[in-house]
Amino acid sequence: MSADPETLMQFLFALRSRGVTDTRVLGAMEKIDRALFLKGLFAGRAYEDVPLPIACGQTISQPSVVGIMTQALDVQPRDKVLEVGTGSGYQAAVLSQLARRVYTVDRYRRLVAEARAVFEELDLTNITAFTADGSFGLPDQAPFDRILVTAAAEDPPGPLLAQLRIGGIMVLPVGQSDTIQSLIRVRRTESGFDYEELRPVRFVPLVEGLGQD
Ligand code: SAH
Repeated sequence: MSADPETLMQFLFALRSRGVTDTRVLGAMEKIDRALFLKGLFAGRAYEDVPLPIACGQTISQPSVVGIMTQALDVQPRDKVLEVGTGSGYQAAVLSQLARRVYTVDRYRRLVAEARAVFEELDLTNITAFTADGSFGLPDQAPFDRILVTAAAEDPPGPLLAQLRIGGIMVLPVGQSDTIQSLIRVRRTESGFDYEELRPVRFVPLVEGLGQD
Protein backbone atom coordinates (compact mmCIF):
# COMPACT_ATOMS: atom_id res chain seq x y z
CA MET A 1 0.00 0.00 0.00
CA SER A 2 1.16 3.56 -0.54
CA ALA A 3 -0.58 6.79 0.32
CA ASP A 4 -2.55 8.74 -2.27
CA PRO A 5 -1.32 12.35 -2.75
CA GLU A 6 -4.08 13.81 -0.56
CA THR A 7 -3.34 11.44 2.36
CA LEU A 8 0.39 12.06 2.03
CA MET A 9 -0.20 15.83 2.10
CA GLN A 10 -2.26 15.50 5.27
CA PHE A 11 0.41 13.25 6.83
CA LEU A 12 3.10 15.86 6.14
CA PHE A 13 0.85 18.70 7.29
CA ALA A 14 0.25 16.91 10.61
CA LEU A 15 4.01 16.46 11.05
CA ARG A 16 4.68 20.16 10.41
CA SER A 17 1.91 21.27 12.73
CA ARG A 18 3.47 19.16 15.51
CA GLY A 19 6.87 20.76 15.12
CA VAL A 20 8.66 18.69 12.48
CA THR A 21 10.00 21.49 10.31
CA ASP A 22 13.39 20.21 9.08
CA THR A 23 12.96 19.79 5.33
CA ARG A 24 15.42 16.87 5.13
CA VAL A 25 13.49 14.99 7.82
CA LEU A 26 10.15 15.74 6.13
CA GLY A 27 11.64 14.59 2.80
CA ALA A 28 12.78 11.29 4.34
CA MET A 29 9.36 10.71 5.91
CA GLU A 30 7.63 11.51 2.64
CA LYS A 31 9.76 8.88 0.92
CA ILE A 32 9.52 6.00 3.43
CA ASP A 33 6.05 4.44 3.35
CA ARG A 34 5.02 3.71 6.96
CA ALA A 35 2.35 1.23 5.79
CA LEU A 36 5.08 -1.23 4.75
CA PHE A 37 6.15 -1.53 8.40
CA LEU A 38 2.66 -2.46 9.61
CA LYS A 39 0.59 -5.59 9.21
CA GLY A 40 -3.04 -6.30 8.39
CA LEU A 41 -5.62 -3.77 9.44
CA PHE A 42 -3.05 -1.49 11.07
CA ALA A 43 -1.45 -0.79 7.67
CA GLY A 44 -4.65 1.09 6.78
CA ARG A 45 -3.98 3.48 9.66
CA ALA A 46 -0.32 4.08 8.75
CA TYR A 47 -0.82 7.79 7.97
CA GLU A 48 -2.54 8.64 11.24
CA ASP A 49 -0.32 10.36 13.79
CA VAL A 50 -0.67 7.58 16.36
CA PRO A 51 1.53 4.77 17.70
CA LEU A 52 0.27 1.34 16.54
CA PRO A 53 0.84 -2.26 17.68
CA ILE A 54 3.48 -4.45 15.99
CA ALA A 55 4.59 -8.03 16.79
CA CYS A 56 6.03 -9.13 20.18
CA GLY A 57 3.78 -6.72 22.11
CA GLN A 58 5.77 -3.70 20.90
CA THR A 59 4.69 -0.51 19.12
CA ILE A 60 5.68 1.53 16.10
CA SER A 61 6.15 5.11 17.33
CA GLN A 62 3.87 7.98 16.46
CA PRO A 63 5.12 9.62 13.21
CA SER A 64 5.46 13.09 14.78
CA VAL A 65 7.61 11.58 17.55
CA VAL A 66 9.78 9.85 14.92
CA GLY A 67 10.10 13.22 13.18
CA ILE A 68 10.93 15.16 16.32
CA MET A 69 13.52 12.61 17.46
CA THR A 70 15.13 12.47 14.03
CA GLN A 71 15.22 16.26 13.88
CA ALA A 72 16.74 16.49 17.37
CA LEU A 73 19.46 14.04 16.32
CA ASP A 74 20.64 16.46 13.59
CA VAL A 75 21.96 13.64 11.38
CA GLN A 76 24.65 14.57 8.85
CA PRO A 77 25.22 12.79 5.53
CA ARG A 78 28.57 11.25 6.61
CA ASP A 79 27.22 9.97 9.94
CA LYS A 80 27.31 6.45 11.31
CA VAL A 81 24.17 6.05 13.41
CA LEU A 82 23.12 3.48 16.00
CA GLU A 83 19.43 2.94 16.73
CA VAL A 84 18.49 0.88 19.80
CA GLY A 85 14.99 -0.59 19.41
CA THR A 86 14.44 -1.59 15.76
CA GLY A 87 10.79 -2.51 16.34
CA SER A 88 9.11 -2.34 12.94
CA GLY A 89 12.20 -0.83 11.29
CA TYR A 90 10.41 2.39 10.33
CA GLN A 91 12.65 4.74 12.32
CA ALA A 92 15.79 3.04 10.97
CA ALA A 93 14.47 3.41 7.41
CA VAL A 94 13.89 7.14 7.96
CA LEU A 95 17.44 7.48 9.38
CA SER A 96 18.85 5.58 6.38
CA GLN A 97 17.78 8.47 4.13
CA LEU A 98 19.86 10.96 6.12
CA ALA A 99 22.97 9.06 7.23
CA ARG A 100 25.82 7.18 5.60
CA ARG A 101 25.25 4.03 7.62
CA VAL A 102 22.64 2.87 10.15
CA TYR A 103 23.06 0.05 12.65
CA THR A 104 19.88 -0.99 14.43
CA VAL A 105 19.39 -3.57 17.19
CA ASP A 106 16.39 -5.16 18.86
CA ARG A 107 16.10 -7.81 21.55
CA TYR A 108 13.48 -9.72 19.51
CA ARG A 109 14.84 -11.91 16.69
CA ARG A 110 11.43 -11.89 15.02
CA LEU A 111 11.22 -8.10 14.80
CA VAL A 112 14.75 -7.91 13.38
CA ALA A 113 13.91 -10.57 10.74
CA GLU A 114 10.72 -8.78 9.69
CA ALA A 115 12.42 -5.38 9.56
CA ARG A 116 15.28 -6.79 7.47
CA ALA A 117 12.77 -8.12 4.95
CA VAL A 118 11.30 -4.62 4.50
CA PHE A 119 14.78 -3.04 4.23
CA GLU A 120 15.52 -5.52 1.43
CA GLU A 121 12.25 -4.84 -0.31
CA LEU A 122 13.04 -1.10 -0.27
CA ASP A 123 16.69 -1.73 -1.20
CA LEU A 124 17.92 0.15 1.88
CA THR A 125 21.42 -1.31 1.73
CA ASN A 126 22.98 1.08 4.27
CA ILE A 127 21.10 -0.47 7.23
CA THR A 128 22.45 -3.40 9.24
CA ALA A 129 20.08 -4.96 11.77
CA PHE A 130 21.19 -7.18 14.67
CA THR A 131 19.44 -9.11 17.42
CA ALA A 132 21.12 -7.99 20.64
CA ASP A 133 20.58 -6.27 23.95
CA GLY A 134 21.09 -2.73 22.75
CA SER A 135 21.84 -1.32 26.18
CA PHE A 136 25.39 -2.56 25.58
CA GLY A 137 25.52 -0.81 22.20
CA LEU A 138 27.60 -2.36 19.43
CA PRO A 139 31.22 -2.18 20.64
CA ASP A 140 32.56 -3.61 17.35
CA GLN A 141 31.04 -0.79 15.29
CA ALA A 142 31.69 2.05 17.77
CA PRO A 143 32.19 4.97 17.96
CA PHE A 144 28.95 6.39 16.57
CA ASP A 145 28.30 9.96 15.43
CA ARG A 146 24.67 9.67 16.48
CA ILE A 147 22.75 7.30 18.77
CA LEU A 148 18.95 7.13 18.96
CA VAL A 149 17.24 5.01 21.62
CA THR A 150 13.55 4.28 21.06
CA ALA A 151 12.83 2.53 24.38
CA ALA A 152 12.96 4.22 27.77
CA ALA A 153 15.73 3.64 30.32
CA GLU A 154 15.89 5.19 33.77
CA ASP A 155 19.23 6.76 32.85
CA PRO A 156 21.32 6.87 29.68
CA PRO A 157 23.10 3.46 29.55
CA GLY A 158 26.85 3.82 30.26
CA PRO A 159 27.99 1.71 27.27
CA LEU A 160 26.00 3.95 24.90
CA LEU A 161 27.58 7.10 26.34
CA ALA A 162 30.99 5.44 25.94
CA GLN A 163 30.27 4.58 22.30
CA LEU A 164 29.31 8.14 21.34
CA ARG A 165 32.02 9.98 19.40
CA ILE A 166 33.27 13.29 20.81
CA GLY A 167 31.03 15.91 19.17
CA GLY A 168 28.35 13.24 18.80
CA ILE A 169 24.69 13.43 19.79
CA MET A 170 22.43 10.89 21.48
CA VAL A 171 18.65 11.29 21.78
CA LEU A 172 16.69 9.07 24.15
CA PRO A 173 13.66 8.88 26.41
CA VAL A 174 14.49 8.57 30.11
CA GLY A 175 12.27 7.85 33.10
CA GLN A 176 10.15 5.13 34.68
CA SER A 177 8.39 2.94 32.11
CA ASP A 178 4.82 3.47 33.29
CA THR A 179 4.93 7.21 33.75
CA ILE A 180 5.63 10.14 31.49
CA GLN A 181 9.24 10.13 30.38
CA SER A 182 11.44 12.94 29.11
CA LEU A 183 13.07 12.99 25.74
CA ILE A 184 16.61 14.16 26.30
CA ARG A 185 19.53 15.12 24.05
CA VAL A 186 23.08 14.35 25.14
CA ARG A 187 26.06 15.95 23.42
CA ARG A 188 29.52 14.55 24.03
CA THR A 189 32.14 17.26 24.39
CA GLU A 190 35.92 17.07 24.86
CA SER A 191 35.42 17.24 28.60
CA GLY A 192 32.17 15.35 29.24
CA PHE A 193 28.46 15.33 28.39
CA ASP A 194 25.89 18.13 28.07
CA TYR A 195 22.28 17.18 28.76
CA GLU A 196 19.20 18.96 27.48
CA GLU A 197 15.55 18.08 28.18
CA LEU A 198 13.38 18.31 25.06
CA ARG A 199 9.81 17.26 25.81
CA PRO A 200 7.61 14.66 27.54
CA VAL A 201 7.19 11.35 25.67
CA ARG A 202 5.98 7.83 26.34
CA PHE A 203 7.91 4.77 25.16
CA VAL A 204 7.98 1.06 25.96
CA PRO A 205 10.77 0.24 28.45
CA LEU A 206 14.31 -0.74 27.57
CA VAL A 207 14.41 -4.34 28.82
CA GLU A 208 17.50 -6.40 29.67
CA GLY A 209 18.50 -9.49 27.71
CA LEU A 210 17.04 -11.07 24.58
CA GLY A 211 13.31 -11.64 24.00
CA GLN A 212 11.68 -15.08 23.58
CA ASP A 213 10.48 -14.63 19.98
N1 SAH B 1 11.89 2.34 16.55
C1 SAH B 1 10.78 1.42 16.43
C2 SAH B 1 9.84 1.43 17.60
C3 SAH B 1 10.49 0.96 18.83
S1 SAH B 1 9.52 0.17 20.04
C4 SAH B 1 10.03 1.62 15.14
O1 SAH B 1 10.38 2.50 14.35
O2 SAH B 1 9.09 0.85 14.89
C5 SAH B 1 10.84 -0.21 21.14
C6 SAH B 1 11.66 -1.39 20.73
O3 SAH B 1 12.75 -1.47 21.64
C7 SAH B 1 10.90 -2.71 20.85
O4 SAH B 1 10.90 -3.37 19.61
C8 SAH B 1 11.70 -3.49 21.90
O5 SAH B 1 11.80 -4.87 21.62
C9 SAH B 1 13.06 -2.82 21.82
N2 SAH B 1 13.90 -2.98 23.01
C10 SAH B 1 13.56 -2.87 24.32
N3 SAH B 1 14.63 -3.11 25.10
C11 SAH B 1 15.69 -3.36 24.26
C12 SAH B 1 17.06 -3.68 24.45
N4 SAH B 1 17.61 -3.78 25.67
N5 SAH B 1 17.83 -3.88 23.37
C13 SAH B 1 17.32 -3.79 22.12
N6 SAH B 1 16.03 -3.50 21.87
C14 SAH B 1 15.22 -3.28 22.93
